[in-house]
Amino acid sequence: MMFCAVVEPLLDLYLDDRLVPVQARWVEKHAARCHACAAKLAAGRRLKAALRGTGAPAMPDGFKARLLALAQAMPSAKALAEELPSPDLRPSAALAFGLAALAVFVSGSLLGPGLPSQACSDSGSSVCFFGGRDK
Ligand SMILES: [Zn+2]
Repeated sequence: MMFCAVVEPLLDLYLDDRLVPVQARWVEKHAARCHACAAKLAAGRRLKAALRGTGAPAMPDGFKARLLALAQAMPSAKALAEELPSPDLRPSAALAFGLAALAVFVSGSLLGPGLPSQACSDSGSSVCFFGGRDK
C-alpha cells in the first residue's frame, strides 16, 4: 500500500485532473483504503465545487496603470547588460570554466582506477595501489 506522504502531494493534482492515468489510479487505490486521504479528497471536491462559478477577483482601480508605470521605470535589459563586465571578459570567463572542467576530468582520469595494466606495469614502483598484479 502506498504511503500517505507519497499520495498527499498528488491529491490537488488529482482533483484538477492533471495526473497521468497511472498516478490517478495510485491515488484512487490509496484513497479507497485510507480514510484520511479519502477525507482530504472529499474536502478538496467540496472546495472546488464551492469555488466554481465565483470568477476571478476584480483588480483594484488603477492597478493596470500602476503596473505599467512600474514596468517602465525599471531599467531595461540593455541597460543591465551594459553594467556587466566588458564583453571581451565574458568569453575568457567561459574559457576559464571550460579549462577548469577539463582539468577536473583529466585529473579524475589520471587518479582514478583506470586499467590495472596501465597503473601498475608502466610504473617502476614495486607497490601497486590500483589492484593490479604484484610484480
Ligand atoms: Zn493516505
